[in-house]
Amino acid sequence: MTFVEGCEECKRLSSAYEAATMEWFRLQGQLRIAEFSRDKEASHQIVAELNGTARRRQSLREEIEAHHLKVHSRTTTASNC
Ligand SMILES: [Zn+2]
Repeated sequence: MTFVEGCEECKRLSSAYEAATMEWFRLQGQLRIAEFSRDKEASHQIVAELNGTARRRQSLREEIEAHHLKVHSRTTTASNC
């Protein structure tokens, strides 16, 4: 994940991405519990939420990439992580 210090948009996008990632992990935990208790209905619902969260993460990643290309394309000091 690239992050340019002092850029508000980077800060906003990366915290949104972080929140979506946390949500994804939380849902993974819930799914494990639902599967363990063989709760099919709950599992299906959680999988649907996981897919939504995965899509949100993907689109945020694209937004971050687009933002970097547009705003930070000349900055080569940005670190990848
Ligand atoms: Zn930025």
